[in-house]
Amino acid sequence: MSILPGNSKEFRRIIGIFEDMKRITILLVVFLVASCTKTPQLERRYEELPLGAIKPEGWLRETLIRQRDGITAHLDETYPQVVGDGNGWLGGEGDRWERGPYWVDGMLPLAYILDDDELKAKAQKWVDWTLENQREDGFIGPDKGYPYVEGLQRGMPLDWWPRIVMLKVLQQYYNATGDLRVLDCLGKYFKYQLQTLPKTPLDTYTFWAKYRAGDNLDVVLWYYNLTWEPWLLKLADLLHEQSFDFTGEFLEGDLLSTKASIHCVNLAQGLKEPVVYWQYKKDERLIEAVYKGLQDIERYNGFPNGMFGGDEALHGNDPRQGSELCSAVELMYSYEQMLKITGVTEFADMLERVAFNALPAQTSSDFTLHQYFQKPNQAQITYGQHNFDVGQEGTGQVFGFLTAYPCCLTNQHQGWPKFTQNLWYRIPDGGLAAMVYSPCTVTTECAGARVTIEERTAYPMDGLIEFVFSMSEPASFPLELRIPEWARGVKLTVNGKPIEDTDWLTRIEREWHDGDIVRLELGMEVKASRWYENSVALERGPLVYALGLGERWKKTVMTGYQREKFGDCYWEVFPTQPWNYGLMRNQVLNDIESVEVEVDSTKIGGWPWTLDAAPVRLKVRAARIASWQLYGGDAGPLPWTPGGGADVGDWPNYPLEPEEIITLVPYGCTKLRISEFPVL
Ligand SMILES: [Zn+2]
Repeated sequence: MSILPGNSKEFRRIIGIFEDMKRITILLVVFLVASCTKTPQLERRYEELPLGAIKPEGWLRETLIRQRDGITAHLDETYPQVVGDGNGWLGGEGDRWERGPYWVDGMLPLAYILDDDELKAKAQKWVDWTLENQREDGFIGPDKGYPYVEGLQRGMPLDWWPRIVMLKVLQQYYNATGDLRVLDCLGKYFKYQLQTLPKTPLDTYTFWAKYRAGDNLDVVLWYYNLTWEPWLLKLADLLHEQSFDFTGEFLEGDLLSTKASIHCVNLAQGLKEPVVYWQYKKDERLIEAVYKGLQDIERYNGFPNGMFGGDEALHGNDPRQGSELCSAVELMYSYEQMLKITGVTEFADMLERVAFNALPAQTSSDFTLHQYFQKPNQAQITYGQHNFDVGQEGTGQVFGFLTAYPCCLTNQHQGWPKFTQNLWYRIPDGGLAAMVYSPCTVTTECAGARVTIEERTAYPMDGLIEFVFSMSEPASFPLELRIPEWARGVKLTVNGKPIEDTDWLTRIEREWHDGDIVRLELGMEVKASRWYENSVALERGPLVYALGLGERWKKTVMTGYQREKFGDCYWEVFPTQPWNYGLMRNQVLNDIESVEVEVDSTKIGGWPWTLDAAPVRLKVRAARIASWQLYGGDAGPLPWTPGGGADVGDWPNYPLEPEEIITLVPYGCTKLRISEFPVL
């Protein structure tokens, strides 16, 4: 199974467009260099709309409100020792590394998307301190270190890495407000980087910036497009040279087939670097590297929930291994940036796979608790080492506020707000593109008219999406819609009139009028995908379906040293029902259409991310495997499924227990689950 099926055609098409653009760009460069000292704008397939132009509706709005009230709005009160007023990024002597900027990187877009003045004011403090305390030579952020104190990162004051997070904060703040102080500050900081990096490279203090240089580069190229200052391209080259060589490793190395070869968050965050650089260099090799990299991530380490095994080092595709919450939100952000730059629709497919499956499963429904590592097969959630690369002294899998390493407590905030911000893009020639789907409303100017498009849908639980136009006056502009790879029987109409020949990326050009309705129906069919030990996951549309297990939550109060480090308590979760099922092969391999899809119309459109709220369920034939039992506090090794391609193997592969009908729910609705099933 591949989540990148048959796309090379799409890639070729996109690359072809950019090859043409490259030729045009070369002509333009020659012309412009001859006529002035500045160089022309870099082409991006799409541009972001101002923060606040896209308003979440329905379940997505409720998600953002739950996040705001559950964790984001009050983190300075619940976690004051790190992100309170003593933080170095507010001028204090406290923590001065990544966690303060991490929080603001998600809190700021959430504030502007929800138009929440109180939250905006909280974000403003951090932005103002950075802008008002820039050093004469351009350096930003705290520059003085302090001796180690338990729980605070006060050393490494000059490390490039936390500054990269603050660059993303400033970029978003400018996008929300147009505050010109940002441009002044970034110009000075980038000059400082250009002067300082040759003798003090990205990996001088820690190795993080070297792996995450793509985010620094992305803001430099974004800034270049606003200023056209040629020296910024020299900085871009320098950052690319000092970056970890993802291009070479993806194309020729064995990074992704080697366990423990790279840190999971560095991979999720860094893999965009070649595509980011490509918007300037337009070298096809850069795109091909990421394309091959994503295929190999899935092949050697992939999970059906869109993530890969990495806990914290890269750790293969056994569904008993974990994926970190930081990896999920950073992988989403990488897909979002690569989608904007290239317009390649597969990045949107992959983004939705993470957002609708892995992400909601890894936080509690009120956002007060999260898991550092989640597993695709997670029959129990218990304290213990769990064969993780970094076991976090037993707290890697359990739910908690401050359990495990505290990066995820502060970095998780960017997931849903940035997802919302990427639902719509501006097309450079004046139109709008809906590349990722969820209920929302977008308001902007197109071709001189004030346009509001209400996106009415219960997606991803349902495939029907209606776009209702409100226009100040009629206006002609293109509307681009993504057709997901999984969609079957696509129906697209404008005011009831069918549009034939839909493509991965369907473009409608017409004069739009007030009250126009575009109706997109994406047919969702149940299909089986193949994973570790030849197991099967069932999918329908963008959702993976799992056996969601009834939950019994058990709280343990922490004491002593662990309480200092990991917070007051942690939660384990135990199943209230059997979990050791295999699926019957004569159904899932030979007669997948017979899997019954049960839709509860009273729940469609509601907030869906719990077992009870799940509006869609699959009924599938299964039997228990008596020998598949708990091991090390969780589901034991996944039983092998014969018959992959060799057409040999023992069927039935296990003594058959009585057949039952089991009910699967969307993966994102579960905390305990089996999502990769043996086949019987
Ligand atoms: Zn983390």
